[in-house]
Amino acid sequence: MEIWDAFNKSADAFSPNILRVSFMPSLPVLVLNSGSSSIKFSAYEAGNCERRKLHEGAVDGIGTDLGTFWIKDAEGKKLIDQSPALPNRAVAFKLVADALHSGQFPPPAAIGHRMVSGGPTVKENQLITPALIDEMESYTAFAPLHTPIAVYIMRQALLLFPGVPNFVCLDTYFHRTMPEEAWHMPIPEEYTAIGVRRYGYHGLSYESIVHQLAEQTPQRLIVAHLGNGASITAIRNGKCVDTSMGLTPTGGIISGTRTGDIDPGVLLFVLRRIAAETPNTADAADKLEAFASKKAGLLGVSGVTNDMRGLREAIAQGDPRARMAVTLFTRTVAKWIGSFMAVLGGLDMLVFTGGIGENDIASRAEICAGLGPLGIVLDPTRNNVRGEALISAESSFVAVRVIPPAEDLMIVNHVVRLLQK
Ligand code: AMP
Repeated sequence: MEIWDAFNKSADAFSPNILRVSFMPSLPVLVLNSGSSSIKFSAYEAGNCERRKLHEGAVDGIGTDLGTFWIKDAEGKKLIDQSPALPNRAVAFKLVADALHSGQFPPPAAIGHRMVSGGPTVKENQLITPALIDEMESYTAFAPLHTPIAVYIMRQALLLFPGVPNFVCLDTYFHRTMPEEAWHMPIPEEYTAIGVRRYGYHGLSYESIVHQLAEQTPQRLIVAHLGNGASITAIRNGKCVDTSMGLTPTGGIISGTRTGDIDPGVLLFVLRRIAAETPNTADAADKLEAFASKKAGLLGVSGVTNDMRGLREAIAQGDPRARMAVTLFTRTVAKWIGSFMAVLGGLDMLVFTGGIGENDIASRAEICAGLGPLGIVLDPTRNNVRGEALISAESSFVAVRVIPPAEDLMIVNHVVRLLQK
């Protein structure tokens, strides 16, 4: 499938009611996607049906003396390639804003921000106002690694691009269709009432897979987004019915540095040990969070790295802890696939996406190795690819595909729809 064709078509399908009545000329739309130590951005010429990449770039290594800052044009030619000191996010975002104001790039007519969580009250993609930023910031606990930098970038974008409409696009939005039995956690009602529930994340990635599949979206679809953060989602007729991440992106599948779902007794055991030597409650909470979100997962088990490429190298050298970390990961993904087949009542298609899903041939093979009795059989030759492909065997009842995510294009789609409102 040609991704641009799919998006140009899906842009049309995305908001048919609005598109029938309002024509929008092509405008440069900037997409901002911030991580804990990086700010990625891309710009597209976008109209009713057109999506054309103009440029993309990133500042990476925030908090270090030797970061990177680059911008490439649509053909991949580097227009800026620097190694600046990036002591903090203010310096990092100023580099981006100054470059975009330099006259070398068309000024954005609208900006779309990826936001992991808007908490229990900010559920819709919408125009950003200072009050909305304050509201989202008050829910930092729902995505503590992601929210602080995202709200900082939003405030700066309102200041540095005056008069340009900014829109928030939420990773939780795709999961809004989950039935209550999927989002309701088995906890006392007083906590459910204040928003403790399953939200689900990576929603822009999942939406982008459904949009790329377009009319090929089957009735029963499971998408496994396997990157440094990993999650899996059950989709019926293009809509989310269940997902693995919970209140925060720490839940669900074991990932780079996160536990995923774990016996609550483990957290209580660790908390009691921390509390014995940490009198301040807030400090104890921070230490528990570091245990579950930053030091656990593939990194914690292997003691080597959170990065799958590094783990595969360690396994090749016979490292048993790296082997155990990856086995826990692939086994957990296989278990979630089986449980979501129970939720969906069978399966028509399984899609792998994310850095590991797209590129780690061995992980896909290991995940699917025991799923033959469930109708999932890979073709080893077809699976020997990186990037988009059909990788299931002819005999497989379930089609298995690899499809790269296209979150930025999804954000552009949302921005165009919101501009037309
Ligand atoms: P993401 O968070 O989606 O960027 O994915 C990051 C993860 O993808 C890391 O664990 C990487 O090691 C993994 N990854 C990226 N490229 C490859 C590759 N060629 N082979 C194996 N793993 C890869």
